[in-house]
Amino acid sequence: MILILLGPPGAGKGTQAQRLQDKHGLVQLSTGDMLRAAVAAGSETGLKAKAVMDRGELVSDEIMTGIISERLNDPDCKNGVILDGFPRTEAQAEALDKMLAEKGLVLNAVIEMKTDDDILVERITGRYTCAKCGAGYHDKFLKPAVEGVCDKCGGTEFNRRSDDNAETVTSRLKAYHEQTAPLLPYYRGRGVLKQVDGMAGIDEVTDQMEAVLQAI
Ligand code: ADP
Ligand code: ADP
Ligand code: ZN
Repeated sequence: MILILLGPPGAGKGTQAQRLQDKHGLVQLSTGDMLRAAVAAGSETGLKAKAVMDRGELVSDEIMTGIISERLNDPDCKNGVILDGFPRTEAQAEALDKMLAEKGLVLNAVIEMKTDDDILVERITGRYTCAKCGAGYHDKFLKPAVEGVCDKCGGTEFNRRSDDNAETVTSRLKAYHEQTAPLLPYYRGRGVLKQVDGMAGIDEVTDQMEAVLQAI
C-alpha cells in the first residue's frame, strides 16, 4: 500500500501518519524528518538543506527524489508506506511515478487534508515533539496525559522546530499554494485523490482516514 498525505504545513499529516503507522504497520516516510536528521548529522545534504528550510522554502527536487528513491528500497518499506511531505512539486510527483513504476509499486491513494490557512499559524507555533521517540504534541490541542511526560515512552525532553515560527509559516504556506497545491488536480485527474476534513478534531480526522482506507 502506498499512500500520500497532502496538505499545508500544520494540516496534521505527521499526526495522522504516526497513527496509521501504529495501527496498520505502514511505514511513515516524512521527508521533513529525514532532512532534520541530515541537518543534525551535519551531512552534506543537511548543510545544503538547513538554510533553505529556515527560510521556509523548498529543498531541491533532485535532493528530495534521491532521498525517497533510496529509502523506498529499504526492506521495512515492503509492507507499505505513507508519504508525509513528499511529493511537494510537480517534478517530484512525476519522479515518484517513474520510481514506483520501476520498482513495480502502485500508488493507492492521495489523501488531501483540507484546512483553512488562518488556523495553521496556531497549529504550528504550538507544535512540539518528544525528543526520545518523536511523538507529536500541541500546547493546546494535544497535550500529554501527564504534563511534561511523553505518553508513548515516558520521555521528559521535548523539541520545537526552529522553522515553526509565524514568519516562516508565511513562506511555507506560499510554497504550498504555489508549488504543492497544483498536485491536487494532477492526482484528481488520475482518480486517486481522496479528501478528509483537516479542520475536524484529531480523532475525527483519524476516523475519516480509516474510512478512506477501508474504501480502497
Ligand atoms: P503537519 O505534519 O501537516 O505539518 P502536524 O501533524 O505536525 O502537521 O500537526 C501540527 C500541529 O497541530 C501538531 O502540534 C498537532 O498536534 C496539531 N494537530 C494535528 N491535527 C490537528 C487537528 N485535527 N486539530 C487540532 N490540532 C491538530
Ligand atoms: P510541514 O509538514 O510542517 O510543512 P515538513 O517537516 O514536512 O514540514 O518540512 C519541513 C521543511 O523541509 C519544508 O519547509 C521544506 O523546506 C523541507 N521539505 C520537506 N519535504 C520536502 C520536499 N518534498 N520537497 C522540498 N522540500 C521539502
Ligand atoms: Zn516519547
